[in-house]
Amino acid sequence: MADWGYDAKNGPEQWSKTYPIANGNKQSPIDIKTSEVKHDTSLKPLSVSYNPANAKDIINVGHSFHVTFEENTQSVLKGGPLSENYRLIQFHFHWGSTNDYGSEHTVDGVKYAAELHLVHWNSAKYSSCIEASSKPDGLAILGVLMKVGQANPKLQKILDALSAIKTKGKRAPFPNFDPSTLLPSSLDYWTYEGSLTHPPLHESVLWFICKESISVSSEQLAQFRSILSSGEGEPAVPILHNNRPPQPLKGRTVTASF
Ligand SMILES: [Zn+2]
Repeated sequence: MADWGYDAKNGPEQWSKTYPIANGNKQSPIDIKTSEVKHDTSLKPLSVSYNPANAKDIINVGHSFHVTFEENTQSVLKGGPLSENYRLIQFHFHWGSTNDYGSEHTVDGVKYAAELHLVHWNSAKYSSCIEASSKPDGLAILGVLMKVGQANPKLQKILDALSAIKTKGKRAPFPNFDPSTLLPSSLDYWTYEGSLTHPPLHESVLWFICKESISVSSEQLAQFRSILSSGEGEPAVPILHNNRPPQPLKGRTVTASF
């Protein structure tokens, strides 16, 4: 059994017992206070170059599900303040038990229903994602807030695959998928230095949160909540929520590209 989760017994309030960095100076997520953001219009645009052929598997990891990409993928995030190309390794979502919350980042205190995270690692400097994931310049995560509303047709292929990975540890092939189809039309972003949002909570992430949200319907959110944290043959425990609340900024600056 995992030593952490999202319940009262093992949830975000308890993580610091096993992972002291939970109280560190660069923890994520955060609330983005737009009145305190520093605007830097000299920041270059971000761009993604994703190859659908690099999509590999969809995996139930017990607290969420991941869509994974080949480790030597040519799919990259570049631009903005990044001096190197960062390679896509996986994307996943965070959601809540009701539509009123579920995003990890919030904007002026506003919670969204879900949040998409596309995780990239610094392959120019490190030899594996595992190695990069504990280094200050190791990871770059592109986050997209998801607003409850119209059904998002771009999510359908992912949602259709969930029935094959209902229980923890299940994995199914997920070939030929272009994650750029999930992105909003504008890649204007807020950026700040932060961490992984669940254990081991390494402070190794340059975060990019898109200003523009994407839509998700109530029915689609219900499908996220239908996958299980339990293994095959165990009593079914749905993953009702998997979002960490915002953490203290502790003097960090959030910069906007717009
Ligand atoms: Zn995440």
